[in-house]
Amino acid sequence: MHLTALVKQLQDIYDDFEKAVSGYKAFAVCRAGCAFCCTTVGNVDITTLEGMVIRNHLLTLPQKHRLRLKKALDANRRAKTPGALVPCPFLAADQTCAVYAVRPFSCRRLYSVKTCSADGPVLHREAAVLSETAVAALQRLDNTGYSGHISHILQLLDMPRFRKLYLSGGFDPPEIMEFGKAHGIVINRFTAFGKPLPTIPTQCPGETT
Ligand code: SF4
Repeated sequence: MHLTALVKQLQDIYDDFEKAVSGYKAFAVCRAGCAFCCTTVGNVDITTLEGMVIRNHLLTLPQKHRLRLKKALDANRRAKTPGALVPCPFLAADQTCAVYAVRPFSCRRLYSVKTCSADGPVLHREAAVLSETAVAALQRLDNTGYSGHISHILQLLDMPRFRKLYLSGGFDPPEIMEFGKAHGIVINRFTAFGKPLPTIPTQCPGETT
């Protein structure tokens, strides 16, 4: 696996999406300090490739900061049972994102044209379609990988045996079957190429206009 080349393509997908939705996002009422999408969270779904980017970023942080985030990830894994709404482990006390520079597409896709309520964000239907297309592109790009909740994908990548196989371009779903079933992990290759379209849910599923 040529991680650098894949990460470049990952960034291209992010950039293309940003360009395509910039006209819609111009109507967003999102503001600094509002972390609705990070607190009222079902899943923060990411691909394994996005997980590698976040993992590598975490390794560059000072040890004290890294240990604090590791504790938050461990707590999130324990709390994140199916259907549970728990805050993202990377949401800092001051409502900022500890991994903002490398945040996954689940976070980049979201905005709202109305202040979020219990029903979640309100975004343009066209932007929602573009984001589903981008999710499919991300899963095709990471076609020996998986998708699932952020703390579980990072847990998978912390397993030396899995990480070695993944980074070598290997693909062996039975190896992670038990873990995957327990945590709702999906196989990118099967969701991105088959039907129905992959369902990486938004963090705050909302009505579209
Ligand atoms: S990764 Fe950052 S932006 Fe995304 S849900 Fe977590 S705290 Fe929010």
